[in-house]
Amino acid sequence: MLRVVFLGPPGSGKGSQAKYVIDEHGVDHISTGELLRSAVNEGTSLGNQIADIMQQGGLVPDQIVLQLISDYLDSSDLSKGFLFDGFPRNSIQAEQLQVILAERNVPLSFVLHLQVDPTAVVKRLSGRRNCSNCGRIYNIYFDPPQVEGQCDDCGSAGELFQRADDNEASIRNRLDVYESETAPLLEFYENAELLVTVDASGDLAEVAESVRQVILTELAKT
Ligand code: ADP
Ligand code: ZN
Repeated sequence: MLRVVFLGPPGSGKGSQAKYVIDEHGVDHISTGELLRSAVNEGTSLGNQIADIMQQGGLVPDQIVLQLISDYLDSSDLSKGFLFDGFPRNSIQAEQLQVILAERNVPLSFVLHLQVDPTAVVKRLSGRRNCSNCGRIYNIYFDPPQVEGQCDDCGSAGELFQRADDNEASIRNRLDVYESETAPLLEFYENAELLVTVDASGDLAEVAESVRQVILTELAKT
């Protein structure tokens, strides 16, 4: 059973790689970024509280994120396995996640570190476009849709948008937050003997192949 955390800087490809893994293994994709963005788009009172923080690339308060995660887990079928993408993001979240998972008797299989030089990801982030219809992620520099402005997967035209936090100032802030708050989790998971690192500096297909191999190897151990 695959129960995994994808850990890496913004732009390391967590979301894109997660989509391949979900297709192949049928696990639940739990992206706090996506859950929080839907709250913002729906204009819930929670969404309104966090919209500015997210736009600026800061971290949403732990209490909000942890509540979101435990509610999500309570309403989902844990026997399918799961993949956390963008969570945990600091040591409080990581420690609480251990508690939340232990309570439900579903410990992590491992933590996959997508390693990439954070300064090299700016172009990935600034070129990123998302399909608002199906969620597919494109990059106007490296991985554009075949017809400009139209999604290859769902055929939706005019639905490709740029995230509010994929601008230069927010990108810089998110990278700083990663270095100070999230990167220390590498040591936390290394000490817990859960950390596996892959080189995420190649193109999407290369990284996907490394991720596939690691997952097969790790699953074979259990
Ligand atoms: P990226 O990894 O490219 O920055 P995400 O979609 O994972 O994108 O996150 C986008 C934003 O959502 C973050 O900058 C932050 O404001 C908020 N967010 C997502 N996950 C968390 C989390 N676990 N804790 C706090 N804030 C979060
Ligand atoms: Zn689409």
